[in-house]
Amino acid sequence: MDEQAFPAAFGFLASARLGEGRIPGAAFATRGTCTRRRERLRTQTLTASLVHAPDLTPEPALAREADTAVLIAGEIYNRDELRTVLPTEAGAAASAGQGDAELVLALFHRYGHHAFRLVNGRFAAVVAEGRRVLLATDHAGSVPLYLRPGRGEVVAATEVKTLARYASPQGPPIAGARRVRRMPGLYQVPAGAVMVMDLKTGTTETHPTWAPPLSRRIVGESEAVEAVRTALDASVRARLAPGTTPLVVLSGGIDSSGVAALARHAAGSLETVSMGTDTRNEFPQARLVADHLGSEHGEFTLRTPDLLTQLPHTVWASESHDPDIIEYLLPLTALYRALDGPGRRILTGYGADIPLAGMHREDRLPDLDSAVAHDMATFDGLNEMSPVLSAVCGHWSTHPYWDRDVLDLLVCLEAGLKRRYGRDKWVLRAAMEGLLPEETVNRPKLGVHEGSGTTSSFSLLLADHGIPDESIHSAKRLVVEELFDRTVVEGDHPDHVSTGSVVESVAARLKRGAA
Ligand code: ATP
Ligand code: MG
Repeated sequence: MDEQAFPAAFGFLASARLGEGRIPGAAFATRGTCTRRRERLRTQTLTASLVHAPDLTPEPALAREADTAVLIAGEIYNRDELRTVLPTEAGAAASAGQGDAELVLALFHRYGHHAFRLVNGRFAAVVAEGRRVLLATDHAGSVPLYLRPGRGEVVAATEVKTLARYASPQGPPIAGARRVRRMPGLYQVPAGAVMVMDLKTGTTETHPTWAPPLSRRIVGESEAVEAVRTALDASVRARLAPGTTPLVVLSGGIDSSGVAALARHAAGSLETVSMGTDTRNEFPQARLVADHLGSEHGEFTLRTPDLLTQLPHTVWASESHDPDIIEYLLPLTALYRALDGPGRRILTGYGADIPLAGMHREDRLPDLDSAVAHDMATFDGLNEMSPVLSAVCGHWSTHPYWDRDVLDLLVCLEAGLKRRYGRDKWVLRAAMEGLLPEETVNRPKLGVHEGSGTTSSFSLLLADHGIPDESIHSAKRLVVEELFDRTVVEGDHPDHVSTGSVVESVAARLKRGAA
C-alpha cells in the first residue's frame, strides 16, 4: 500500500469528554482498518476510532502537544503555503513527515480557530484544548461532519450512522448547524465553519471560515482563460500522489476530460475508467479522450436493474436524501464499487457545473448568474462530494474543481465568461483548447445521470409500479427518504435492503393516498 496515495485517515468517530474518556466503537460504511486512540489532556480526554487504509498507520492524522490535541480525516492541499506562515521550528516539524494533524496543530497555536480560514483541503477536523472542543469542515464541507453536542461530552463523526445511538430528543438546540432527518439531537457542521464548544457549559459558537463569493470580476478573455488553466493545473497537481499513475473517472465530457489532460501532463502517465449501462453510455466520447491522452482505459457496463439495486448503497454511503443528488451519485457509486482490487486515489470532474452554471443551459446572463448564486448558496448539506462514496470500496476520491482556489475563481468570473459565443462553460472549454480533441472541447454538456440512463431508468421503474408521470419526482423523494431511514437511521446494511421492495411500498402508499 502506497502511503502517498491516501490520507492518514478517511474518517472518524470521536468523543471529547471532561475527565476520563470512553473509546467509542463504530461501524463505518468506509472500508478500512479501524484504529482506536486516546489522548488524555488536563481537563478532557479525546478518544477516537479512526478508519484508514489497511497496512498504513493513522498516526499522521493525530497530533498532540501539551494541552492541545488535533484529529483530522482527509488531506490538505496548500501545505507548502501554510508552512510559510509558521515559525521556522513549527514549520520544520510539520514538514518532517509528521502529517496534516501536526500542521493544523502548529497553525492552531498561532491563529486559534482562525487557522481554518487558511486551509485549502478536503477534511474534517477536531481540536481539543482546555475545556474547548472545535469541529471544523473544509470550505465545501466535502468531508461531512456530524455531532451530538452536550455538556460534559461532545461526540462527532464523519458518518452520521455511527452516531445513531446518541440521537435523543432531549438534545440541546444549536444555532447555525443543520438538523439530521429522523435523528433528533444530532447536527451537521456547516460547510466552511468551525464550531467551538465549551464542555463545561455546553455552549456553542459557530464561526464561518469561508463563504461563496457574491461579487463578480470583469477580466479579459485571455486573462480569464489563463487563470482558469493555471488554477486547475495547480489543483490537479496538488491531488496527485508523486510517483504513481493517476486514475480519473472519465465520461468524455469537458469537466473530467480537462482533469484527465492535466493529470496526464503532470504525471506523465494516466489511467481512466468509464461506466455505462445497457441502455446508455458515453463510451465513444470517453475513448476518444483516452486515445488522445494515451491513457490505459477501462469500460464497465452494468445492466440497468443492477444499477438500481445499488440505490441503497448510494444513500448509505452519501447519507444524502435528496433524490436529484442521489441520481448523480448512483452511477459513480456503481463505478467505484466495480473497481476491484486495492484502494486507489481517484480524481473526478465532479462539481464544475455549479460555479459555471453548466446544468442550466441558459442563454440570458441574469438567469445564469442567478443559477450560480442559488447553487452556491444551497449546496451545503447535500453531501455530493462525500469521500465515503468511493471509500466504501477503499478508494480515496478528490474533486479538483472544488479546490478552494479554483472554486473562488470560477464563481466570481462574470457570467459572460461562462456563457460566450453560444457555448456553455466557455472559459473552461477555452482553457482546455490544445490539450484535448476539438470535438471534446466543443461537446455539449451531458449530466452523469443522463449519460448513464440513471434518471430515465429510475423513472421507468416507478412507472412500472403504476406511479403516474406527475408523481414520479415526489415518489423518487419518498424512495430515497425511506432508503435513508433504513440504511442510515436504522442501521440496516444496504446489501439487505431491496430497492424493489422499497419502491413497492412507496407505490402502495401513494395509491392509498390517492384513493
Ligand atoms: P460535462 O459536465 O460537460 O458533461 P463531465 O461529464 O466530465 O462533463 P458531469 O457530467 O457533471 O461532468 O459528471 C460529473 C463527473 O462524474 C465527471 O466529471 C466524471 O468524473 C464522472 N463521470 C460522469 N459520467 C461518467 C461515466 N460515464 N464514467 C465515468 N465517470 C463519469
Ligand atoms: Mg457529463
